Amino acid sequence: MNEKPAGNTADIGFSHENTIDDQVGLEHLRIGNKHALIITLGNLLASMLLVLGLSAHVENSSLLIWFGTMLVFNLFRYYQARKFLSAEISVQSYHHQERRYVLAVATSGILWGLTAVLFFSTGAPVQDMFIALVLMSMASAATASLSFHRFAYPLFVVPTISPLVLKLLYEGDDTQQIIGLVIPLYFGFLMVLSRQIFYYADQTIRNSLTNRQHAYVDYLTGIANRRAFDQYLQKEWFRGLRANQPLSLILMDIDDFKKLNDTYGHPFGDKTLQSIAHRVKSKLKRSSDLAARIGGEEFSIILPNTGLDGALSIAEEIQSEVTGSIHNPETSERVTMPTLSLGISCCYPDQRSSISGLYQQADNALYEAKHSGKNQVVLADSILS
Ligand code: GH3
Ligand code: MG
Ligand code: MG
Repeated sequence: MNEKPAGNTADIGFSHENTIDDQVGLEHLRIGNKHALIITLGNLLASMLLVLGLSAHVENSSLLIWFGTMLVFNLFRYYQARKFLSAEISVQSYHHQERRYVLAVATSGILWGLTAVLFFSTGAPVQDMFIALVLMSMASAATASLSFHRFAYPLFVVPTISPLVLKLLYEGDDTQQIIGLVIPLYFGFLMVLSRQIFYYADQTIRNSLTNRQHAYVDYLTGIANRRAFDQYLQKEWFRGLRANQPLSLILMDIDDFKKLNDTYGHPFGDKTLQSIAHRVKSKLKRSSDLAARIGGEEFSIILPNTGLDGALSIAEEIQSEVTGSIHNPETSERVTMPTLSLGISCCYPDQRSSISGLYQQADNALYEAKHSGKNQVVLADSILS
């Protein structure tokens, strides 16, 4: 069986705790990349301005090489940003995407910083101040566009401004040296401002993702709820169809739960549900597997890219995990854990199968498990035939 993970439950808004930061980061990158057109046009216009302003003073071939590099780099960067925005980026690839973004920002800063190294000319204050003006305008404008990533703004500003500041301090006259001292101070303030913009955006994104997350969580047990289950099953069914991968579904129902409630009380029933949900979830191995509470005392597991053998072994592991006893705080006695009945269905999604068919088969298998004496795992007929 192919062990490559399929989707990720975070893709439907239900995330495991450790992916929330990555989701927030991905959203920051999305906003950052949305500015791609403005950033590209701004960079190209400023590059043209610099070339025009320096053409009378600097050798044209080096200006053209610099402008050509700027043009190619910015068009490539724009293409990458469009690709990012149009593709369905999985939260799993966040760190890879972040590296790309950060590299592009730093490269842009280095290309701008090079202008001071290449074109700064001691003894030509008008030319130098023109370069300083363009660089400072670029670095100031970036406060608005590069504040949606934690480090993007300093990553751009430091390489853009540092060569200019060093040139002013070491090669400039008295006035230029003073300007060289004031520029870092000015950008220090802008970095504080950029930090505040980032912090505000981060809080807003985090709040909206948390609210979204709550809509997919079962309040009592903390695992996924019915809404998450329905959406994820649909998503993974179509993914299986595209990738020709098997999809397995386990439905389980606690045996004689009403009796347990009647005997020990509803709060103890709730505690039992929480304990079972925790044990069920603990048996899942991949980030693409989803455990959900889909009814009062009914749970389900969606296992993308998992065949019958895998589903059966998980079902059996869950069954042996839900054993032993559970402490009843009301009476201080230990109560035997209820048993589970489980039904499994599995298919390769295709034009002849359907999501409701897959669900119905697992439900029939579960019904069969109940009517054959409970506390057992039953495979759907379609798998056996
Ligand atoms: P079977 O073995 O046939 O599944 O019998 P059962 O008693 O488990 O099933 P039945 O459908 O007769 O009863 C389900 C019980 O689950 C009844 C209901 O009170 C209980 N239940 C549903 N939701 C909750 C809940 O959130 N908390 C508690 N404590 N009980 C719940
Ligand atoms: Mg039931
Ligand atoms: Mg039951």
